[in-house]
Amino acid sequence: MAYRRAALSELLGDFVVYRNLCPMDPRLPGFPELREELGLKALPRKGTPDYARAVVRILAAAQRLRGSELSHIVYIGDTRHNDGRTIASLGEFLPIRGFIAAEAPEGAPEAEISGGVMFANRWGLLARFAEWLEKEGFPVDGGTAVIVDLDKTAFGARGRNSGPIDAARVAAAERLAEASGGEPSVLQRFREAYRELNDPVYHPFTADNQDFVVFAALVTAYEAYPLSRLRADVVEGKLRTFTEFLEVLGKRPLPRGLVELYREIEEGVHRGDPTPLKTFRRLEYRETLARIDRLPDASLPGEILREEIVITPEVWEFATEAEAKGALIFGLTDKPDEASLPPPGESGPPLHRARMKVLP
Ligand SMILES: [Mg+2]
Repeated sequence: MAYRRAALSELLGDFVVYRNLCPMDPRLPGFPELREELGLKALPRKGTPDYARAVVRILAAAQRLRGSELSHIVYIGDTRHNDGRTIASLGEFLPIRGFIAAEAPEGAPEAEISGGVMFANRWGLLARFAEWLEKEGFPVDGGTAVIVDLDKTAFGARGRNSGPIDAARVAAAERLAEASGGEPSVLQRFREAYRELNDPVYHPFTADNQDFVVFAALVTAYEAYPLSRLRADVVEGKLRTFTEFLEVLGKRPLPRGLVELYREIEEGVHRGDPTPLKTFRRLEYRETLARIDRLPDASLPGEILREEIVITPEVWEFATEAEAKGALIFGLTDKPDEASLPPPGESGPPLHRARMKVLP
């Protein structure tokens, strides 16, 4: 059997925005241009009112290029918290309806509607979302922008195919630990610490930022700050933020493998960059590409969903139908640019241009 293959760019073109809010289509305004106009001090994070303001501004510009106005938004995503907040904040500007799904194969298919958002436990329920929009008379036409989240939505569907996306990140973290030149015991300690520091208990300290988690795990792996001490200091409230952690580290000599990475992350945090450990994210980009369309067509679908990142056909079909009705289809994601695009001067497709298999 030959699997179907496609690139999201066939639907989106370069109407795609990664974390840095710089549209891939150079005709559209991005953070550097909008910064002054919208009075933004730093890059706004997904789900904040400033993020919504910037996105509405970018969508309106995309509509102008098509000779249309922006009057309605439809949003497809995978996380209640992040995507839910983004939908709510965009709803302050324009009428919006959202669909948020995570595949949970156990139990009957269910969709509940709350605050203009349909929450579903199957991606297949997107068809019901389309019916709901129609029944409600919510327009999907030339004035509508359909925002499609990329990570774990348009590809790597949450709960069904999100494993390989996470695996790419873990592999990149381990590559970073290896590349820092430590002994095998460093890699072993790194793995343990990385697993522990991903626990939500540490969120006040890591701010759920993977760059922070990976760097802190590496520091403990080198025992520049042993994990047992970090654990105690976080629990006892002696170490409240990652910035404090960097300050403590800055006052002591660091192992050779950490010196460059410390400089990189410290400078990034200092300038308010939400992706301060770019070395790690560039490895994540390579590890992600390594999980796209690698298995032969003879492979079973279950094996592909476990090992490879694929396009979510339900999302593809919803977007294709909306496009046929004249809607703007726009890719929006919090995935860091450095984890999604080739490093300057290097080859490789941006993730929205990578050819992936398409399967449910
Ligand atoms: Mg997502």
